[in-house]
Amino acid sequence: MREIIHIQTGQCGNQIGAKFWEVISGEHAILPNGNYVTSVDKELNKLRQERLDVYYTEGYEGKHVPRAVLVDLEPGTMDSVRCGPLKNFFRPENYVYGQNGAGNNWARGHYTDGGELLEPVMEVIRKEAEGCDCLQGFQLTHSLGGGTGSGLGTLLISQIRAEFPDRIIASHSVVPSPKVSDTVVEPYNATLSFHNLLEDTDQTYCIDNEALYDICFKTLKLKTPTYGDLNHLVSLTMSGVTTCLRFPGQLNSDLRKLAVNMIPFPRLHFFVAGFAPLTSRGSKPYRALSVPDLTQQMFDAKNLLADCDPRHGRYLTAAAIFRGIMSMREVEDQMCSIQNKKSSLFVEWIPNNVLTAVCNVPPCGLDMSSTFVGNSTSIQELFKRVSEQFHAMYRRKAFVHWYTNEGMDEMEFTEAEANMNDLISEYQLYQESN
Ligand code: GDP
Repeated sequence: MREIIHIQTGQCGNQIGAKFWEVISGEHAILPNGNYVTSVDKELNKLRQERLDVYYTEGYEGKHVPRAVLVDLEPGTMDSVRCGPLKNFFRPENYVYGQNGAGNNWARGHYTDGGELLEPVMEVIRKEAEGCDCLQGFQLTHSLGGGTGSGLGTLLISQIRAEFPDRIIASHSVVPSPKVSDTVVEPYNATLSFHNLLEDTDQTYCIDNEALYDICFKTLKLKTPTYGDLNHLVSLTMSGVTTCLRFPGQLNSDLRKLAVNMIPFPRLHFFVAGFAPLTSRGSKPYRALSVPDLTQQMFDAKNLLADCDPRHGRYLTAAAIFRGIMSMREVEDQMCSIQNKKSSLFVEWIPNNVLTAVCNVPPCGLDMSSTFVGNSTSIQELFKRVSEQFHAMYRRKAFVHWYTNEGMDEMEFTEAEANMNDLISEYQLYQESN
């Protein structure tokens, strides 16, 4: 058994986290009351059940309980989880929350109000960890633009790192975009968070609201995309990137193997993910898809959940996960041919840097899908965007008093900015090296 503890923090973290549980529970045939629905197909039962322990613990009467900790500095979002489709699903003791909110202030989440909630949350996490046979690591869902998910989320990550130094920490981090939110201090919160994620996570999936919005608006033609629409895309992709952890198979079958394959240098652990076919909520793809379609779409910049163009950079490493009933041979041929066609996009100094897996169980509602995870130097475009927005305000020290009033040292702003700029240069260096 190699268990993962899932932690969701703040409004966005709880919303995308709840969606993640809804989707994976559907795929593993677990009802919101924790019961497993046995299929007449024995093979399918085996695939669905073999690795349930990764994400679920066994509760009373064989019920499956998510190994999830739900955290917020205000009760609102968690109340909606408790009243939503997953009411009664999570362990009641695993909801830990405050009353006042973080007011989109990273310092309140990281130092003052968040600091007070740290110990109660760690108690729940330690209890979950004690119940594990062989804990592989943690995954956290949060946004970087607000106060709780970003400030408290990164505080939790650094505490987990201190208490469980040899376990893997993965984060699914939602990067802010002015297209989706109009809170001006988001670039501050995001930069302060990246400064922490750089040191403390092993792998971070950058889920960029700018890209989610563009996919909804341009590709799916939704006139006014809602968080529900954005989160549908997030949940498809989170289900995709965790497929190899949840179903039997060889490739990237735990967080550590994934990290070893994907991360050639420790600081360069920020991934972009892509998904095909892209569909809006409740709709199906217009036509039956083939392996060549999936491969083509998956590598298309328009299908990536981060606003960066891989054609402007190079892939250090990548992984592709195909799902559904399909020929392994055809998948391999297609992957080979696309890499040959786009060979300049992959650094040649890491041979065989694209790994491919096939899982026979498709996501609910689709016959086939593919998910892409890339460690691309073009992600510097996303960091540059946030850095420019940060710099525009910081050079006049606008809004900084909100943070220093919480006791934060202004040096932390300067250090965070420098750290992110260093990261951008490192990506550029490896992009150019032969
Ligand atoms: P927190 O509760 O203090 O962590 O604050 P939020 O999670 O509301 O953080 C605000 C940031 O998260 C903004 O950039 C929002 O656009 C984004 N956000 C909030 N809720 C959602 C959501 O459900 N989905 C997505 N994709 N982004 C969200």
